[in-house]
Amino acid sequence: MAPYAVDLLDGKPYAAAVWARGVIRADWWRRSTDGDVERKPFDTVTVLGDNIKVLNAPDTTDTRFARQTLLLGHRAQAALAALRVAIVGAGGTGSHVALGLAYLGFRNVIVLDDDLVETTNLNRLVTADHADIGSPKTIVTSRRMRSIDPMIEVQVFPGLTPAGEHPELHDVDLLISCVDHDGPRHRLNQIAIDTRTPLLDIATGVDDHLQPVALGGRVFLMLPGAACLTCLNELDSAEISRWAKPDHQQAVDRLHGYGTGVANPSVIYLNGLTVHAALAELCAWISGAREPARWLDIDLLGAVKSPGTQVGPRRIPGRVPGCIDCGYDK
Ligand SMILES: [Zn+2]
Repeated sequence: MAPYAVDLLDGKPYAAAVWARGVIRADWWRRSTDGDVERKPFDTVTVLGDNIKVLNAPDTTDTRFARQTLLLGHRAQAALAALRVAIVGAGGTGSHVALGLAYLGFRNVIVLDDDLVETTNLNRLVTADHADIGSPKTIVTSRRMRSIDPMIEVQVFPGLTPAGEHPELHDVDLLISCVDHDGPRHRLNQIAIDTRTPLLDIATGVDDHLQPVALGGRVFLMLPGAACLTCLNELDSAEISRWAKPDHQQAVDRLHGYGTGVANPSVIYLNGLTVHAALAELCAWISGAREPARWLDIDLLGAVKSPGTQVGPRRIPGRVPGCIDCGYDK
């Protein structure tokens, strides 16, 4: 059966699986360069749905997680170690995500960023200190994650580009968006749709034109086949088109007052609060303890009658028919 199926698939591998009671046996076949059909097993199989399950993930016996396993359970702790996760953006929010993943027990992580550490980052970049000024953010991030967990595997890559295919993102189980611009956020939205990969988008914003200053965050867990960020109307199309332009055209835009290039206000507690709200939902999704909130708003201003931080789930709308990004995805 397998050689027949391999020959029908024109070079693509053929896979088959049998599962029962949370255990799975899955193999794949393909024709090797010398013409033989080779057969290999899958180590783990990831199942996506209301929760994410990793079948056949080896148990984690590390006593570092003894107190956490009481909360999440052994199966979820094993899943954390087996999932391959991409952190896109290693700045203010990405640095909190990186530390959170290393402390939680994720052990297969890739980090993408182009930036070097600057003095003005040191009010919030929790992966870096003064000695790191001028070093790539990806390098300081991976070093800090390894200091927390010597068992962790961290690979680093340059940041997103407008037309980049980014094959390094095609074999991950989860994309975490920690970018500070809707251009790369939109590119990640497209990559998540094309590769049918879940996307956890983490965004923060400060509006210092208001008094008192408005601070807030948004967490969005996008699952394959569900509404995307464009369906939600949460992306700034002018910002996206500016990001896609060459540098000299972006400079002309700034001369005419579009995309000012002025650094936005940033503060550590807004990043930390938003990221850890996201990680709480991620762990609910992985452990199956409860249904995760797929869209959270974090508002540090609060209402006139009840000032103070408010974290509230929002209802996810259905997919928009004809959405330019996910409309062709069946
Ligand atoms: Zn859409």
